[in-house]
This record gives sequence, C-alpha cells and structure tokens, in this order.
Amino acid sequence: MKIYPILTGNLKLDGGAMFGVVPKVIWNKLYPADENNLCNWSMRCMLIVDGDRKILIDSGVGDKQDDKFFGHYYLNGDETLEKSLNKIGYSVDDITDNILTHLHFDHVGGSVKYNDNNELEPTFKNATYWVSKAQWEWATHPNRREKASFLTENIIPMMEKGKLNLVEDEGEILPNITARIYNGHTDGQIIPHVNYNGKTIAFMGDLLPSTAHIPMPYVMSYDTRPLLTLEDKKKFFSEAVAKDYILFFEHDLYNECCNLQETSKGVRAKETFTLEEYFD
Ligand SMILES: [Zn+2]
Repeated sequence: MKIYPILTGNLKLDGGAMFGVVPKVIWNKLYPADENNLCNWSMRCMLIVDGDRKILIDSGVGDKQDDKFFGHYYLNGDETLEKSLNKIGYSVDDITDNILTHLHFDHVGGSVKYNDNNELEPTFKNATYWVSKAQWEWATHPNRREKASFLTENIIPMMEKGKLNLVEDEGEILPNITARIYNGHTDGQIIPHVNYNGKTIAFMGDLLPSTAHIPMPYVMSYDTRPLLTLEDKKKFFSEAVAKDYILFFEHDLYNECCNLQETSKGVRAKETFTLEEYFD
C-alpha cells in the first residue's frame, strides 16, 4: 500500500468564522490572516494505492460553479486534482473508490463534472462513491443554515449516474480503511482511519481543519452543533493520544500531519511532519 497527499488548490475563508469564539489577537498568531481577515486553506485530499484499488478521499472544490460563486472564496494555488494525480502517474479514470467525508462544496466539488455535452456526470467513471447514509439524507434535505454548502450539482449525479454506496455504521469499509463517524460539524461526517505500516492515519476532514484547531475552544462557526464538536474532539483526542495516531490535515496550508501529546494545558501537537518525512 502507498499513500499520497493530493493537493487540489487553496481557498480563503474568513478567519473569524474559522475560529469561532476565539478572539483574533489569539488565533492570528497561530494561523495568519490577510488584510481582509481571510486565511488561506488547502484542499488536501489523499490517494491510497492498494494493489488494483486506487482510493481517493474527498476531491476538492472542482470547477463547476461560476465566477461569482468562486469569487467569494479566492481560489489560489497551481495544483488541481488532475495535475496532482498525473504527477504520480494516475488519472481520474484510475480511481476505483471515492470516499467523501461529507458533501460540503469544498470537499466534493471535484467528484462531479460537466462532460463535453454540458451534462453533469461523475468525474471518476470507474469509481464507487462512499458517503454516510446520515450525511446523504442531511445533504439532500438540507437545513437552512447549511443549504449554501450543499450544492445539488455536486451531489445528485452520484446517485443518478454513479455507483453510490451509503455507509450506515462505523467499521471497516475497505481493507485497512475504517470509517469513523462524527456529527458536530455536520451529520454523519466520515473520518477515515487508514492502517499503514503499523500506524493509524486519520484523515481529519472538518473534524479538525488544522493544527491551530487543536485547543478545545477552537471550533469553527460553520459547525452545526459546536457542543457536540467538543465531545467529538475529546473522544478523538483520547484515542489519538493513547494510540499515537497520525493526523492528516485537509485544510492546514502549513502542516500536512501531526501527532498529539497530553500536556498540562490539554492536548497539543507533538510534532508536525509530512507522510513522506515520517515514513522515509
Ligand atoms: Zn465542512
């Protein structure tokens, strides 16, 4: 088995929204904002190559929406899903499985595209799409708060024209890949845990967007149930410290991975590193 980070470009989001109740004078030292209060966030996906299987976790923002929509997010960076896959010798047609943590536009946009006839179709034509059943229900009957994050064109073609597999419970969904489910950010967010060389690598999705979000009060304003996020963090951290998990960050522009340690102030990062550095 081999694991690769797949960069798909960056987006900017308001720092205040990303750090919730934490004041800017504090979070800005951990994660810098520009003159418009925007912070730059990666959309770092993961490719797991396991024999014939090429498993992609999330897919970035894609390119289907108009300039007005993307204008709100200041997309930047040279990487795209296609370019990053090509760089290591793969294409979208090689993907056999696309695991989606959840269906917010910055995680799933790359999974559906317009074809030459301007019709929507799954980007990965040979892939099975994996989403939790709870998230699918949540996204296809969205609440008013999250409505703007669930775009019909990102979601429905997976069901109508693709192979969609709805995950009902936590457990192993593919060899060496376990789906854990957390509900504070959005209902039924899958946090994939990958067994690799004797370690567990957790793909953090929006459970923990960055190393700056490790201290307890750092919870995004986007989360639908912030009190539940605190429980989610506590539960995940106690497991991750005890078993020395590797946390792989989707949105942290500056750190690909870290592990955790208990300190007198609470759980904090022990070391930051890339997967390549760690396993070399
Ligand atoms: Zn999200």
